[in-house]
Amino acid sequence: MMSDNNKNVEIETLGEFGLIDELTSDTVLRNVSSHVGIGDDCAVISENDGEDKLLSSDMLVEGVHFNLSYMPLKSLGFKAVSVNVSDVYAMNGLPEQITVSLGVSSKFPVEALKELYAGIHAACEYYSVDLVGGDTTSSFSGLILSISVLGTASKSDVSLRSGAKENDLLIVSGDVGSSYLGLQILEREKGVFNSNPNIQPKLDGYDELIKKQLQPIARMDVISMFREMSFTPTSMIDVSDGLASEIMHLAKSSGCSFSVYSDKLPILEKSILTAQELGIDPYVCALNGGEDYELLFTADQKDFEKFKNNPNFSIIGFATDKSNANLLIDKNDSAVTLNAQGWRHF
Ligand code: ADP
Ligand code: MG
Repeated sequence: MMSDNNKNVEIETLGEFGLIDELTSDTVLRNVSSHVGIGDDCAVISENDGEDKLLSSDMLVEGVHFNLSYMPLKSLGFKAVSVNVSDVYAMNGLPEQITVSLGVSSKFPVEALKELYAGIHAACEYYSVDLVGGDTTSSFSGLILSISVLGTASKSDVSLRSGAKENDLLIVSGDVGSSYLGLQILEREKGVFNSNPNIQPKLDGYDELIKKQLQPIARMDVISMFREMSFTPTSMIDVSDGLASEIMHLAKSSGCSFSVYSDKLPILEKSILTAQELGIDPYVCALNGGEDYELLFTADQKDFEKFKNNPNFSIIGFATDKSNANLLIDKNDSAVTLNAQGWRHF
């Protein structure tokens, strides 16, 4: 892409989402079966039998998404699958098949790659998905792992990012911020280790946070709960880049805004203590940390009883008219505009 004065535009000026827009805004869908294309957690491919196919892919790159000095290869394999199936759950569907494509440098012995696959196989068993193919190539710049997933949902179950309506409840599963704090602890201990390899890393007591970072579990159980409750979200997204960023995606796709209450955000006691210890704001971790792989969704007000006092979920806000800003409201009722940092890989 060239600008008027022939100077190249730096990717950094666009950011990840700006770049995707720039590259894909004039995409044409030529097949009627391509019901939903770019812009949601999965593409929705409509067949005529009341079932939709859900298709998504995600790539993990060494040094960008993971650091092998503290990420065991088996955990990486499991996490790579979790990250992918999470996008299918985010459509209120069930994953069935994955393909795995690898770029590997010769520094990896076969044993190491077998460890990676032990994690992939364990995740396939956990999520009941089948590994049905992939591709293998060499890489000069570390390990690259790209997974695609295919899932299904009945047409009436599919939850897009675009379905939220004014007054809908905004709800998130589990907790947010712990994965980011787990990463900060791993980074801190790696720093200590690098400066003095004789010091053992101090990871005891942070297990919950570190597990969430190294081996997140996609919320398959939440989809089962929805089925048991006879509940379909009006819109849904998974929390990969950070809660604030995902809230803004739902708002933009749905043509609404959200008011979010900071004291309703589900933050573990351990996350608050760890954030304090590290001198960072636990609310910033919860809103902008990312890699939580929780489900963020909206529900019609009539479903309030299903979620109030339900320990698996937190009602964190509600949808407003799009003429409002996305607001973060604190316990003293003062409001600031919600903004999203998201992950800036570029
Ligand atoms: P998620 O965080 O749910 O994995 P992303 O933020 O990575 O989603 O992507 C947003 C949307 O853009 C998705 O619909 C995805 O399929 C699409 N997308 C991302 N990168 C590309 C690309 N290089 N070409 C085409 N579509 C892309
Ligand atoms: Mg997603």
